[in-house]
Amino acid sequence: MIYLDNNATTSLDPRVLAAMEPIYSSTIGNASSIHKYGQRARAILARARQDIASFFSVRPDELIFTSGATEALNMAIRSVPKGSHLITSSLEHVAVMEAVKFTGCTVTYLDPEPGKGAIGVEQIEKAIRPNTSMIVLMAANNETGIMSDIEAVATLAHAARIPLVIDGVALLGKEKFSLTEGMSVLCFSGHKIHAPTGIGLLIVKKPHKLHPFIVGGPQQFGMRGGTENLAGIVGFAKAIELIEQELPEAMTRMKTLRDHFEKILISNLPNLIIHGADQPRLCNTTNIAFLGMDGETLLRHLDLEGIAASHGSACSSGGMEPSRVLLNMGLSMEIARASIRFSLSRFTTKEEIERAAASIVDSI
Ligand code: PLP
Repeated sequence: MIYLDNNATTSLDPRVLAAMEPIYSSTIGNASSIHKYGQRARAILARARQDIASFFSVRPDELIFTSGATEALNMAIRSVPKGSHLITSSLEHVAVMEAVKFTGCTVTYLDPEPGKGAIGVEQIEKAIRPNTSMIVLMAANNETGIMSDIEAVATLAHAARIPLVIDGVALLGKEKFSLTEGMSVLCFSGHKIHAPTGIGLLIVKKPHKLHPFIVGGPQQFGMRGGTENLAGIVGFAKAIELIEQELPEAMTRMKTLRDHFEKILISNLPNLIIHGADQPRLCNTTNIAFLGMDGETLLRHLDLEGIAASHGSACSSGGMEPSRVLLNMGLSMEIARASIRFSLSRFTTKEEIERAAASIVDSI
């Protein structure tokens, strides 16, 4: 099987698993307990928190561990003052699209300008109203890989004193970035960076404040009740350490392989559109319209050939809906239906890429 669906989820890095294993195989204790076991758990938790905070250049108490990015985004977004105005885009992940509905805010959903695939900072500037109290934007789109200029948006948000919530899920591990002034909240997910599912991260830069979303015990500075997922947190910290050590080389490798994949397809198939090919794109993602083909049929065929990719989102009848993101980018239903996303990881090999490309050409 050739797995090219890493923007959906990634495999657990064996080194992450090795870091987590001692937490599962010995009695670790609850980080809130007073005895030696609890002290040990607290120390492990503090170390992981410190390591992750150093990577992002933030304070340890600016981190909140969650069950995933969906929870993190819900917590960030649902803290917005009710009755105010919120700006987001029509390209956001469903976690954002659904969470904003629960805010009691008037929501502006920006569409990208034709041919862009990301929201321009000037569009956001124009949408700001006197009562705008939050901007929510993805750093990179998980379906197309097209990146937003989050630094420019952060500069605008800072000048306008509007909290900016960034969905950093697709960006982390695929592109270098640093936190700048104006980035109030950032959300990340473990299972997209070769850490396990069930662990997410929220960075809340002071002085921005959120309301607790999951209430219970006093864990995590009273901001997120519930016994911490210690193994998940340790796994997340290890995955971050590996990103820190390996990102520059991994980025070059993934980009080289992604470009090689695209070149093989372009030179063998006549009717292709690579979405966002002329835009700043993540190094691991390519979203391609195979014109004249039905993407879902092709995807099912590729699955039989041992290639896992993705197309649109699952609909209630068990089939696939054409991608909302592509439609909101202004592409036609026909193009959206013909499109498939391939997403690589740092473990994807040249042989896999060449076999997958050959199989796609044959199938078509
Ligand atoms: N944001 C983006 C861009 C995503 O791709 C995803 C997951 O697909 C999420 C948020 C939600 O992350 P999680 O699965 O950790 O809840």
